[in-house]
Amino acid sequence: MIVMSAKATPAEVRAVVAKVRLLGCTPHVSHGRERTIVGVVGHERDSDLDAVAALDGVERVVRVLNDYPLASRDFHPADRVITLGNGAILGGQGVLMMAGPCAVEGRQQLTESAEAVAARGVKVLRGGAFKPRTSPYSFQGLGEEGLKMLREVADDLGLAVVTEVLSSEDVELVASYADLLQVGARNMQNYRLLQACGAVDRPVLLKRGLAATLDEWMQAAEYILAGGNQQVALCERGIRAFEPSVRFTLDITAIPVLKQLTSLPIVVDPSHAAGRAEYVGAIARAAVAAGADGLLVEVHPRPSEALSDGAQSLDPASFDRLYQQAGRVAEAVDRCLV
Ligand code: PEP
Ligand code: MN
Repeated sequence: MIVMSAKATPAEVRAVVAKVRLLGCTPHVSHGRERTIVGVVGHERDSDLDAVAALDGVERVVRVLNDYPLASRDFHPADRVITLGNGAILGGQGVLMMAGPCAVEGRQQLTESAEAVAARGVKVLRGGAFKPRTSPYSFQGLGEEGLKMLREVADDLGLAVVTEVLSSEDVELVASYADLLQVGARNMQNYRLLQACGAVDRPVLLKRGLAATLDEWMQAAEYILAGGNQQVALCERGIRAFEPSVRFTLDITAIPVLKQLTSLPIVVDPSHAAGRAEYVGAIARAAVAAGADGLLVEVHPRPSEALSDGAQSLDPASFDRLYQQAGRVAEAVDRCLV
């Protein structure tokens, strides 16, 4: 990491960037409020770094000891902010609510879900068109047809769309319909998919793997950042523990720990952690209290008829309650639900 002095000129930064390229490494520039930092990714030698350290405008060269230099808060100290197509903001002061059905099942179901969440003030519609199901016999999603519905229904209501991309071949397709690409828990270490997401100009919501450590998760985020896509948010959705009364165990401690390690926005999905609708509100409120920058909540007009994840989906009235209560918790920690 090359830390430029506070007085470094743009020309001096350009000279450093050029030198880094000459050494066969990739520069990533982060313009902070006080100073510019040039992250260097590659197999540089210590003698090369000495040459860079001697350039004008360089304050110091710091070796980053973790395996996710670009994702680390050292490289980008200020909280990162992602602006979606409709102006909705993820990261910063607001706590962004994203809600909708687990899967797009049809136009009627999607429209009812979207209208229910939009009526509450939600700006981002979730819904899977490509579904990663544990059983090959379960509903697999409507594919591109579902993406089209998502886009049309969202546009009618002024919503942004977050939806999952299951494989690297589908990244361009999903990006042509979605505002935010979701990489699911089961794909957190699908490195081809992460690389494809790094090459596309769309924000990415990277879910935590079912049994991933924070370090593994951060390195997965690093794949996307290293590919040149700086718009990455993380989503804690529960990890595999030994307690069977919930589907997964929400790692609430991940929020403050990640806040220290990284400036990427942190979203919490209480639905997949809980597995049961009656627990979703409590852990959503806890997540906001602990500092989450966003929530991803499953809402279905008739949960008992859902083709996937009905047991954990909230009906519109329960979602209303969650929204109001989470809003009050956000205010208690000097933030607001957006
Ligand atoms: C989902 O959001 O519907 C989903 C499949 O999530 P996860 O990847 O966290 O299981
Ligand atoms: Mn689901």
